[in-house]
Amino acid sequence: MLLGRKQLLIGGEWRDASDGQTMPVVNPATEEVIAHVAAATRADLDDAVRAARAALSGPWGKMSARERGRLVWKLGERLMEQVDEVARLETLHNGKPITESRHVEIPMAAECLQYFAGWADKVQGDTIPVKGNALVYTLREPLGVVAAIVPWNFPLLLAVWKVAPALAMGNTVILKPASQTPLTALALGQLAIDVGFPPGVLQIITGSGGSVGQAIVEHPGIDKVAFTGDTSTGKGIMRTAAETLKHITLELGGKSPNIVFADADLDAAVRGASVGIFYGKGEVCAAGSRLLVDKAIKDQFLTKLADRTKKMVPGDPLDPKTRLGAISSKAQLERVLNYVDIAKKEGGTLLAGGSRADIGTGKGYFMQPTVFGDITPTMTIAREEIFGPVLAAIDFMDVDEAIARANDSIYGLAAGIWTRDIKKAHYVASKLQAGTVWVNTYNVYDTAAPFGGYKQSGFGREMSKYAVDYYTQVKTVWVDLA
Ligand code: NAP
Repeated sequence: MLLGRKQLLIGGEWRDASDGQTMPVVNPATEEVIAHVAAATRADLDDAVRAARAALSGPWGKMSARERGRLVWKLGERLMEQVDEVARLETLHNGKPITESRHVEIPMAAECLQYFAGWADKVQGDTIPVKGNALVYTLREPLGVVAAIVPWNFPLLLAVWKVAPALAMGNTVILKPASQTPLTALALGQLAIDVGFPPGVLQIITGSGGSVGQAIVEHPGIDKVAFTGDTSTGKGIMRTAAETLKHITLELGGKSPNIVFADADLDAAVRGASVGIFYGKGEVCAAGSRLLVDKAIKDQFLTKLADRTKKMVPGDPLDPKTRLGAISSKAQLERVLNYVDIAKKEGGTLLAGGSRADIGTGKGYFMQPTVFGDITPTMTIAREEIFGPVLAAIDFMDVDEAIARANDSIYGLAAGIWTRDIKKAHYVASKLQAGTVWVNTYNVYDTAAPFGGYKQSGFGREMSKYAVDYYTQVKTVWVDLA
């Protein structure tokens, strides 16, 4: 039933694109086309914006905050009731292991909806003492129509990180999923109808970023764009959004350092380095793709890590035992393999992996997990985001050099520190230019903890109470009492 949704959700109804165009969705594990979804036009977007604005001045705008929160809660509840089917869809269009979709991503999305449902009636203004005889108070109001534009690596979760706070705060949302992975966003739209969201509150517009994505950012009827994706796309969005002075939040790329000091629990750090880069096939914005290892333990550490990596084999993403799925697309696999070639040419030492993999079907975009040693900070794979299962190991001499090397990046999304020295851990955490720092762990998230970037990894924060600020605006009311 959910898999059946391939049209646009506009004004509470499913419909084809106005010009009838569609685009194919490919299962990266089999290379088969599994669906054709509508490719929205500007005219479709205009209709969605009209419906979103009508909802703001209609039943949605009039609904009490508590009632709104109840609906958002129900959406999370319904998502968990359908978790098996939604997880299967996520794996089919993205290639990630079913265990990640079923037990991590979709449950996290449901939890995020319920977390923000709780905030709906708890966001308050202030009364402010001022000079003179006046009552001054503030109201926290929704921004209006929020567009969420999201990438293909965590298609549903990254959408919900925006949809949940936006709806809970009383905005209407137009969600544009990535062209490669539209199926779970469409499923979310159906679930929203099922639980009783009024028409126009959550609309799903599938279509290419270059056309309808661009049109969203240009549209004068949209008040905010919440974007997750590539840093270069984010820069373009910022430029375009300036024309209509939209609110924007940008969650962009990363090249996160995972720093292993000689005094760390090395076995735990090996596991952490592995999870840091190979979870989600390395298609994780916060992936610990730069491994900084203390020179004193470098050889020992990299031998252990390479041994562990060689034992990891990609498999059928629908098999519950699989821990490494298919790279999300042919283009992405080619991009990753190209970085492997560059690393070899620039003098990196291949310690594990490095090639395309075959899971015995002769089909699918699978890649061996890959580790490079002898990487220097100026090499391409130490600087550019690969967005795949490729780790660049760089050494350092002391704490100061570790910090300098960690911060030597245009990005600042996340970082990891492995040490048994608590003073060193806090000191290094304070010096790292990153939105999230993990100590003796990596790649852990919670809806109550904020996530977002420093530097060119973007601005704004997802999840947590901080996200509420990015989906509300403050109105100050002065009442003359003289
Ligand atoms: P992308 O090419 O920037 O695409 C992201 C989304 O933007 C897609 O829906 C895409 O549509 C759309 N888009 C493309 N061009 C657009 C334009 N000119 N105007 C408006 N929308 C446009 O990024 P990606 O390659 O899919 O995703 C990978 C990137 O996301 C990586 O850099 C990764 O680090 C980053 N990421 C960041 C976070 C974070 O929280 N910081 C989380 C996950 C991923 P189409 O699909 O149709 O092209």
